[in-house]
Amino acid sequence: MRTPLMAGNWKMYKTVSETRAFFEAFSPLVAKSTHCEIAICPPAVNLAAAVDAVRGTRIAIGAQNLFWEKLGAYTGEISGAMLKAAGCTWVIIGHSERRQYFGETDETVLKRTRAALEAGLQPIVCVGERIEQREAGQTETVLREQFANGIAPLTPDAFERIVIAYEPVWAIGTGKVATPEMAADAHRLLRQQARSTFGTEAALRLRILYGGSVKPDNIRGLMAQTEIDGALVGGASLDPVGFASIVNF
Ligand code: PEP
Repeated sequence: MRTPLMAGNWKMYKTVSETRAFFEAFSPLVAKSTHCEIAICPPAVNLAAAVDAVRGTRIAIGAQNLFWEKLGAYTGEISGAMLKAAGCTWVIIGHSERRQYFGETDETVLKRTRAALEAGLQPIVCVGERIEQREAGQTETVLREQFANGIAPLTPDAFERIVIAYEPVWAIGTGKVATPEMAADAHRLLRQQARSTFGTEAALRLRILYGGSVKPDNIRGLMAQTEIDGALVGGASLDPVGFASIVNF
């Protein structure tokens, strides 16, 4: 039995005071939500405030990225050890916005994932096809490649500690959600990849989240698919009431 994970990706939204206000409203709404794990990934400058705000709750805090080196002259970067020391549990890796705007590749995804694990963080590794790739019938090839290059080289022990987020790029922030069946098909393909690389047991334990325009009114249909083990939520995670109703689907 895989425990669902509901994770919010705040992207570049909210200040420290807005972060505190969010948790004041959100925490009581999910205080009894023991059916799933809950994580919020705010911008890095808000991590301390977020960690402070969730103390004593079941809500975990994650970062949106990390650098693979442990320390050094890397202006603007943040290491896994720094995130861990700040109180993070999770870290998103390879989000499509990082792939699109900041040159993230499957190879750098792999480096960041290894660094995250070494620092004791749990990576949420994002994969997903762009619209032109789906329209050209390349979804399967793209997912196979992203898995083969970004995830398959992990050791079996490392693989046990990651979560994969399937996020079709055309569904992120667009309001165009993949149908539950489309998402489940992609999840099945990823689980097959996991099975052939890491074995049946590891594949069955792997949590695969869906991400892409998840909202309070579509989460139930998605979570009705046994293949979908939770959600990575962008826009709809900014509103405490809306995200709480996603968590409490
Ligand atoms: C995301 O940022 O990972 C995401 C899925 O965004 P949205 O829910 O806004 O589509």
